[in-house]
Amino acid sequence: MVGSVKRRRPAPLVVPSFAKLNLGLEVLGVRQDGYHELRTIFQTFDLRDDVAIRPRPSGVTVTCDDPDVPTDGSNLAVRAAVELQRFVGLARGLEIRITKRIPVGGGLGGGSSNAASVLMALDRAWRLRLGTAGLYPLARRIGADVPFFLFGGTALGLARGDEVYPLRHQVLAHVVVAHLGRPVSTAAVFRRLDERLTPRENSTTIFRFVSRDLEGRALPILSNDLEQAALEEAPDLAEQVGRIRVVLVREGALLATLSGSGSSYFGVFDDPKRARRARAALAAAGFRAFRGQTLSQDRYRRAWARSLGVVTRTRGADQGRSGQHGDHGRQGHPGGRREAEGVRIHRV
Ligand code: ATP
Repeated sequence: MVGSVKRRRPAPLVVPSFAKLNLGLEVLGVRQDGYHELRTIFQTFDLRDDVAIRPRPSGVTVTCDDPDVPTDGSNLAVRAAVELQRFVGLARGLEIRITKRIPVGGGLGGGSSNAASVLMALDRAWRLRLGTAGLYPLARRIGADVPFFLFGGTALGLARGDEVYPLRHQVLAHVVVAHLGRPVSTAAVFRRLDERLTPRENSTTIFRFVSRDLEGRALPILSNDLEQAALEEAPDLAEQVGRIRVVLVREGALLATLSGSGSSYFGVFDDPKRARRARAALAAAGFRAFRGQTLSQDRYRRAWARSLGVVTRTRGADQGRSGQHGDHGRQGHPGGRREAEGVRIHRV
């Protein structure tokens, strides 16, 4: 019948938004602009949100299945879209839908990752061709952790963490992440740290980590300068962290530490069986725990390329490795892979 033809809404573009860990974090001092000078080793792993974008007549809207995520202009995904609109002088309407799996306020970078995902998805959808270099200054304006997610993998973060250098050595390992159930205020943790901070010129462990040939042995030298301050800020969590740490160390974690300013605590393992046992023990003790694998930059890129329908040539030494992932609930993961033993360092 004439006039009854409904215009079909375009299918959304769905892209991944992976979580990060800070394998190590050092705070050197307070800068003149009031921010802290950091040295950190970022690492993506295969816990992911999904971000779906679809055009709409006008305005930018966001919905999320997690009620803790704001759905106004303060949502980092919305901020990313608005920054990009301003930058390119386009006021195209956009609908963003976020499926949350990354615990909110867990130091796992969920909001920052969502923002970077929107930037990269819109670069494609709007055919802007800005690429990583073009998106980098916009990402920095949105938040200090956002630029890292333009790269993924194992990377060194300098300055506020927003100066990012992907590392030649990509850490391939198993991770177990326990979420402590409530966020810890990042600002309050830094204030506490400031009271005892001795400014220094350079980092100790991070540069040793970056400069040596890892072969899996360098992970134990890393630590997080924010851990003590975070646990003083949240003494109710300190007792839980103590119990989590005991399990992770008992099961053979090469590194057990806090991510960011909390409140997720994680262990890195070279043996998938140990990681599985650690996760099971944490779950039995009542903790919300995920088990997964680190995502090298190569895997990160390929997961992105798949979501954008881009065909890539495979080139990584980490091809075909990694987990069964049967025990981390709704967690997404970028492809069917087999599990491998050992912390392996993949040179890119
Ligand atoms: P940070 O250490 O930067 O505070 P985080 O990694 O601990 O971040 P996020 O999950 O990014 O934790 O959430 C931090 C805060 O950002 C939350 O309090 C939330 O209200 C806000 N937020 C804004 N946009 C988002 C988003 N898209 N996803 C999650 N949180 C968001």
